[in-house]
Amino acid sequence: MNNRLEMIYEGKAKKVFAHNESDKVIIEFKDDATAFNARKKATFKGKGKLNCLISSKIFDLLIKNNIPTHYLEIQNENSIIAQKIKVIPLEVVLRNTAFGSLCKQTTIKPGTVLAKPLIDLYLKNDELNDPLLTRDRIKLLDIIDIKDLDFIIDLTLKINTILKNFFNNIELDLIDFKLEFGYNSRNEIILCDEISPDNCRLWDLNQKNDIIVSLDKDRFRNDLGGLIEAYSEINRRIDNFI
Ligand code: UDP
Repeated sequence: MNNRLEMIYEGKAKKVFAHNESDKVIIEFKDDATAFNARKKATFKGKGKLNCLISSKIFDLLIKNNIPTHYLEIQNENSIIAQKIKVIPLEVVLRNTAFGSLCKQTTIKPGTVLAKPLIDLYLKNDELNDPLLTRDRIKLLDIIDIKDLDFIIDLTLKINTILKNFFNNIELDLIDFKLEFGYNSRNEIILCDEISPDNCRLWDLNQKNDIIVSLDKDRFRNDLGGLIEAYSEINRRIDNFI
């Protein structure tokens, strides 16, 4: 394949290949899905392609809104070309509505709309099950400079404003999402990884009654079925809107 050299990393949902320009990589989206720290696994034919298409269009939107990202261009329907980065080992979760682990770990009721977005920071470490961090633990472990952390938090809030508004236009409620950041070759902090129904909770606003219809990876986590149909619906609504 064009420009693609050896595989340098394989994660749960993506493979990363070297590019013949050393400051770039090629990221291939896999059909594999994992949940609960990979204790639950499955393969969904076509998921990689859908996430690649959705994520590429979302990154284009963010770039238009001056958010620095690793995304350069889509290479084919399941791969993108991106800036090579040094990963910051943080999972940055922003929540607009309480759901998932927040409700398992606290007394807040699922579906509670939060008065303001909540940002939860987790250590990116599968062996330790991605533990929740505090600012003091981040300082103690020297994971990142506090001024860089504040930059990331500010960027995450800006990304939320852009995404919430965008998804609202296509009748989706952005419940929460997870972001990852890294340093590029110029040592700038940029958004990396993906933005797709694998790492966002999206509820259908196009419902007459109050039932929650998840169009995201909760379809797999909670054995609801119809994952590919849900991801295709999101891709279709984005295409109809842009
Ligand atoms: N998330 C993710 N990767 C993770 C953990 C969470 O992409 O390893 C996303 C998840 O899809 C959701 C948000 O982050 O959109 C918040 O997830 P939560 O902390 O509630 O965890 P979960 O319910 O997935 O255990």
